[in-house]
Amino acid sequence: MIIVLKAGATGQEIGLVEEKIEAYGLAAHTSRGVERTIIGAIGDERKMQPEAFEGMECVEKVLRILKPYKIVSRDFQKEDTVITVRGQNIGGGTVALFAGPCAVEGREMMLGIAAQVASCGASFLRGGAFKPRTSPYAFLGLGEEGLKYLAEAREATGLPVATELMDPRDIDLVVKYADVIQIGARNMQNFRLLTEVGRLDKPVILKRGLSATIMEWLMSAEYIAAEGNRQIILCERGVRTFEPSTRNTFDVSAIPVVKSLSHLPVIADPSHAAGKMSLVEPLAAAAIAAGADGVMIEVHHDPETALSDGPQSLRPDTFGEVAARLKGIATAVGKTMGKA
Ligand code: PEP
Ligand code: MN
Repeated sequence: MIIVLKAGATGQEIGLVEEKIEAYGLAAHTSRGVERTIIGAIGDERKMQPEAFEGMECVEKVLRILKPYKIVSRDFQKEDTVITVRGQNIGGGTVALFAGPCAVEGREMMLGIAAQVASCGASFLRGGAFKPRTSPYAFLGLGEEGLKYLAEAREATGLPVATELMDPRDIDLVVKYADVIQIGARNMQNFRLLTEVGRLDKPVILKRGLSATIMEWLMSAEYIAAEGNRQIILCERGVRTFEPSTRNTFDVSAIPVVKSLSHLPVIADPSHAAGKMSLVEPLAAAAIAAGADGVMIEVHHDPETALSDGPQSLRPDTFGEVAARLKGIATAVGKTMGKA
């Protein structure tokens, strides 16, 4: 249930509504907008009658939300959420540019690629230290050693770092080094993991699951938001279909659909959608044109010898050229791209 307060409701009145919600055994999530304060009552709504609130002086209206996600919905917050990490925005009028290798393979490579993508205008570094690989015999990442190289790359470039967290047991470790926590496609419905990152005060990239519907994806975001963490960035990375020409089928329509249903920023990962370097640029361009708040692109200094996802990784010089052209698309849709 959403309780919309009258313009000018006082802090004391807001407190009374929150207390009443809590007395029913539900949680109150308050969103103070520019014009109105909206309070979401999250929990089993059957316990609560709208009339109990409609009679309150400060209440304008009470809406039942039939959607199974609430806090992340546009009904709950009209304005777009903008997330700022070390001075870099995700959402609003910026197209964030995440770039870096699929996996951190070593110190020299990480520092080298980081310097190159930074000089091409990237606004965030990416790189996996814990890799969810289909085969248990594939390169599974350097673990903490990889996180240390990412942190060193951040010091050298000033760019915030996004890296994947696969297991609640690694939370303290990953939190210590990362600026943005990535929940990978394979873990989109790992509800325990979602609940844990929901308790953090750190932005979370939530990738769309391998075969997840938009509704399932938003409900996973709600798991994070329900624990208090509203710094969620949704990432479309393609879904599995019958089409074998690409690694996944990039669902460009998901971008405007999600943006209409949710106030959260939406970025796109054309690398994992395409699976091929030649397709990364057109998919990234389509994503930005469709309203994406950012793109995440894998970059490797030598894709032939990459320990993971070489075929979809751009060489740094190609990345620079692609980034410059994508900037033109961002400008065409009235946004700025990359580093502030
Ligand atoms: C990644 O970003 O390195 C990754 C593994 O992506 P996804 O979870 O989308 O497959
Ligand atoms: Mn990858």
